[in-house]
Amino acid sequence: MNPPIKPLKNCGKCGLCLTACPVYKVLKEEQASPRAKLQLIKAFENNTLESSPLLKELVSKCLMCGSCAVACPSGINHYEHFMDMRQKMVESLGETPAIKSLIFLLSKESRIRMGAGMAKLGQTLTPKWLADKYRLGNIPINQFPRLNPTPFRKTVATTISPKGLKKGSLVYFTGCATNFLYEDTGISTIGILTHLGYEVIIPKDQTCCGIPLMFHGAPAVENMMTNIQALCAHDCHGIIVDCTTCGAALKDEYPALIRKTKEKDRPATEHNGEVLEDCAQKIAAKTTDILSFIAAHRKDLVFDETTPKLGPVAYHAPCHSRNSFKSQPLVQDLLRNLPFMDYTPTPDEAECCGGGGTFFYEHPDIAKIMMDKKLWHVNAVNARYWLTDCPVCRINMSGNLDKSGDIQVRHPVSLIYGALKKP
Ligand code: SF4
Ligand code: SF4
Repeated sequence: MNPPIKPLKNCGKCGLCLTACPVYKVLKEEQASPRAKLQLIKAFENNTLESSPLLKELVSKCLMCGSCAVACPSGINHYEHFMDMRQKMVESLGETPAIKSLIFLLSKESRIRMGAGMAKLGQTLTPKWLADKYRLGNIPINQFPRLNPTPFRKTVATTISPKGLKKGSLVYFTGCATNFLYEDTGISTIGILTHLGYEVIIPKDQTCCGIPLMFHGAPAVENMMTNIQALCAHDCHGIIVDCTTCGAALKDEYPALIRKTKEKDRPATEHNGEVLEDCAQKIAAKTTDILSFIAAHRKDLVFDETTPKLGPVAYHAPCHSRNSFKSQPLVQDLLRNLPFMDYTPTPDEAECCGGGGTFFYEHPDIAKIMMDKKLWHVNAVNARYWLTDCPVCRINMSGNLDKSGDIQVRHPVSLIYGALKKP
């Protein structure tokens, strides 16, 4: 759970956050550092600095990765300060039309569905020469993933029975990416959990976790309320996420956000007599990322012994997996011990890929430098598979690959599920 927001005056200016910051590592300018951002925020709060496009630009040069907070010996939660500041910048200066549209779409499930439908039509109708030519950030339009034929949650039952003896029930928060883009992740996650003996419950009324809205200073209260109601309605042993950014919302952000919005925007209703703040705490305590869950149950997985050895396999550890779930050592151990996998770590496995929500689109020049380094390392080990458990990293990684190569970017669950012994 998020630590309480420590005052900015606690910053001793030691500079430890600089060496952890992927943006500072590229730009090597003090004004791009987490330390400088905090000083700018402090000056703004003390009314010695006015809002301006330059201030907004400096604050936005951030992947919201949380690495600075992990490195900070003073316990400052940069993340919370940055989100508050982004909100103030948007209130005083507004937002670009592209980001405004994104916020509009993601703030209601019906709009997300409409946006996905329009995008699917666009993918079908856009001529190849046009899709080759135009880019979002550094990614050619035709290297974005194809949308799922049908939203994933519509293709599966709300409750899916386990294989064999039931060990318990798990609620699966699929997030938007699995629902609309990466159904292979959803199919594999369900396959692994039921193989392990768990009943899987997929609440149909879940929606976007709200993190993209929070990152852009927009209110995510409605998304949070919808998800708290959807998740709390089911009695379960755990809540599984296949995206650690969604997981960070459920685990870290909702308890903080519900406290902040208690007085003002929060609806008066309680859930089944339970105070919503308690529901948010329960959700936070039960949320686990799928790879940590599989790592804890690795010995119960039964593999098809005829599965050919896959590899070399490289892994990219997303920021929220490292900083929020601290799962990287567990994932390394898991991949190293899978009998069918030739896991070949790259030295920069934990370096940011430059995806960062919409960072790859807003700051393509910085994102390109980060990605080029990663591509160099993944090519140096001749990787055949490049795995990651964040859908934005997956979009960014596959979008930047040389199309003539044969590296496949996948969520680890799809390789694991593919190797399981089927009845
Ligand atoms: S690590 Fe913490 S205390 Fe040190 S400069 Fe960064 S924010 Fe300040
Ligand atoms: S959140 Fe990440 S990118 Fe942003 S200042 Fe901190 S370390 Fe740098």
